[in-house]
Amino acid sequence: MTDETKFSVMVSLFEWIQKTKYATKKRSKFRKFLDTFCKPDDYFSAIRLILPSLDRERGSYGLKESVLATCLVDALAMSRESPDALRLFNWRKGGAKTGVNAGNFSLVAFEVLQSRQGMSSGGLTIKELNDLLDSLALSENRAEKTSVLSTLIKKTNAQEMKWIIMIILKDLKLGISEKSIFHEFHPDAEDLFNVTCDLKLVCEKLKDRSQRHKRQDIEVGKAVRPQLAMRVSDAHSAWKKLHGKDVVLECKFDGDRIQIHKNGPEVHYFSRNFLDHSEYGHGMSDLIIQNVLVDRCILDGEMLVWDSSLNRFAEFGSNQEIAKAAKDGLDSDRQLCYVAFDILYVGDTSVIHQSLRERHDLLRKFVRPLKGRLEILVPDGGLNDHRLPGEPPCSLIAYNVNDVERFFEETVKNRDEGIIIKDLGSKWEPSDRSGKWLKMKPEYIQAASDLDVLIIGGYYGSGRHGGEVAQFLVGLAELPAPNTYPRRFISFCRVGTGLSDDELAAVVTKLKPYFRKYEYPKKGPPSFYHVTNNSKERPDVWIESPEKSIILSITSDIRTISSEVFAAPYSLRFPRIDRVRYDKPWHECLDVQSFVELVHSSNGT
Ligand code: ATP
Repeated sequence: MTDETKFSVMVSLFEWIQKTKYATKKRSKFRKFLDTFCKPDDYFSAIRLILPSLDRERGSYGLKESVLATCLVDALAMSRESPDALRLFNWRKGGAKTGVNAGNFSLVAFEVLQSRQGMSSGGLTIKELNDLLDSLALSENRAEKTSVLSTLIKKTNAQEMKWIIMIILKDLKLGISEKSIFHEFHPDAEDLFNVTCDLKLVCEKLKDRSQRHKRQDIEVGKAVRPQLAMRVSDAHSAWKKLHGKDVVLECKFDGDRIQIHKNGPEVHYFSRNFLDHSEYGHGMSDLIIQNVLVDRCILDGEMLVWDSSLNRFAEFGSNQEIAKAAKDGLDSDRQLCYVAFDILYVGDTSVIHQSLRERHDLLRKFVRPLKGRLEILVPDGGLNDHRLPGEPPCSLIAYNVNDVERFFEETVKNRDEGIIIKDLGSKWEPSDRSGKWLKMKPEYIQAASDLDVLIIGGYYGSGRHGGEVAQFLVGLAELPAPNTYPRRFISFCRVGTGLSDDELAAVVTKLKPYFRKYEYPKKGPPSFYHVTNNSKERPDVWIESPEKSIILSITSDIRTISSEVFAAPYSLRFPRIDRVRYDKPWHECLDVQSFVELVHSSNGT
């Protein structure tokens, strides 16, 4: 019956749930829908549409808002320059009336679809929708995706299409938690999902709400939802929370949380959202097979990149690049390194019910560390043995609050992300954030609105910005001699967001006469600019000379990162243009030295 149920019935449920304030009413309406319109043998067809972010049966659609916008414009046969197309491309700024629906892609799409699709339902069934979503996930290029979307548009009205878009973007904004949906479905659903990350299995095993399910333990080969850490603001509150417990302090590594499942010769790498990252297998799986000394095992830890020339972990962000280099057999000083901070399964038994102290013993016993490739994080030895002289340990037993304070200060000075504080007597619990693990992170440079930087180059945009400069390469000044203007500018970061279309157009118009095409490698940048050889840094145009340029105030509420792409020693993680400083002459650009001091003072070094 579920399959033949019309999607429009589900849409009425969604609309109703979204509009209702009361959680209990939302839950009972959902129950009624299951009882009336779904067949127990096929709950999955419906539930996968209600909890799309948990459905792993279908591959990824490869559609984020911007690509989806292009596909919809093509599917609706609109001109890319038409006001409606621009509305879709510009969804962050809102639809017809700027500001209304800003940042909500599905609502902007609804506005655009309404005038084209009409009100009457196209009669699409849940089965047809699931089949079309399968084709969408399987389609390999934009044209195929566009054709599936155009079929969907023909079979729906604008309201139905709005919900399909939310399903594709995997966020229904229903105002009912995943927990409530699970509980209403079956009292054991959440537990079973937490240890299997398999929505289909949950729907099939728990069809009968009155039949309780025996608590299931974790299994090798099935991703398990990770133990999480609760945020604390300072050492004292951390110490108070773990009062009377034996406590271990660990460095918070900034990589990818990955569970490694070893099953004989088979190795899986599950991320936090239970995707299997097989790309980590090249160069890593053989190592796991040889150095994890038990046939079946689950490790919990962080996938990082180790820089063997610097003898330390590289900054966050290069995992995929290094995984690809390993796959292509490229030689590099950098390699993937897995830091196992926990072990969840050994041989044929789950060990999550044992204490962390016992699990540390198992890590020591069953994992043979290899410097810079496979490390274990335990208080005595492990990765501590590979720290450079002068570097703080990365795992340490704490005896008092001062130990926590000192460890935190030293760790942050060492440029690590923060610390994790763990109860050594605690078991490992899927999806738990109740405080067995605590995390403490520094506040990074917050309002860095003093960063007045000079535009030194430009990058062409795509889509509606095609053919025009839409992003800038900005630079910091090299500290000039007293009473002179700076002569050289050092590339600092690439920034494109923050300005309205009009503001952006005004800057581009002003600078256009001074744009010079970058003819790498025939011709390098103008001699005023100091840049690296990294290809990501090469702008499409340079500003002919700095005195023709404009200062931008940029902000970044996330921390700075050590820069390898740009010539300046640090860059910003999520830079945004705050405003254009037409009032500030080019030579008042921030200099590198002042910026480095600002970073050090913010990070407490
Ligand atoms: P954040 O964005 O701060 O990483 P989060 O929501 O991803 O937070 P949390 O549970 O809050 O995850 O923080 C724990 C995360 O910290 C883990 O998911 C893991 O990726 C990372 N981590 C780094 N080092 C450790 C460590 N030694 N022990 C546990 N987790 C660690």
